[in-house]
Amino acid sequence: MSKSFDSETLNQVSKEYGGQSEFFTPKVGDNKIRVLSGYEPLAKHWIIEKGKRISKVCFGKDKGCSYHTDKDLPLRVQFPLWILDRVDQKVKIFEPGYPFIKYLTDLKNDEDFGYENLPDYDIKIKREGEGLETRYTYTPSARKPLTDEEMNALMEKKDITEIVEKMKKNEMEKAGGSEGIQQYPEDEIKVEDIPY
Ligand SMILES: [Zn+2]
Repeated sequence: MSKSFDSETLNQVSKEYGGQSEFFTPKVGDNKIRVLSGYEPLAKHWIIEKGKRISKVCFGKDKGCSYHTDKDLPLRVQFPLWILDRVDQKVKIFEPGYPFIKYLTDLKNDEDFGYENLPDYDIKIKREGEGLETRYTYTPSARKPLTDEEMNALMEKKDITEIVEKMKKNEMEKAGGSEGIQQYPEDEIKVEDIPY
């Protein structure tokens, strides 16, 4: 039976590729995370299936992703990366939108919070509201090196690029490859439109 890309399946893929991996979603209120890796862009189509809003991994128009046939289906780019959730000290996959990546990029050259490869401090994420009313505020914490234990927890995980490639490959196999699928011209993806 083919796999559907609901969060359960994604967790399954994640397990296959990164041990007992979980996905991180900021809770309403205060959250604290440590960014542990670079990101790998991943586009998803948001569709309505059985009355629910769900996302489908886009594996590329040129490879036969069928959701490109409908121009009304929004395509969103997310930026999966590994983080450490300070609430339970677990290494998880976080799939933020453009604003968070922009924030980290701006911090890199910040007078007080500049860093080399990855921020050497935690980031506080304050979430207010839900659904379309959701707002996120990001604040850097004081510099603090990772412990050996925290570093080792990341070592057990697969490279985020491998995981994203696997997600795309699974979705493509499910769709039956690119045979006989019509190609459509590239749409422009407006990453700035993502709410967080
Ligand atoms: Zn697509």
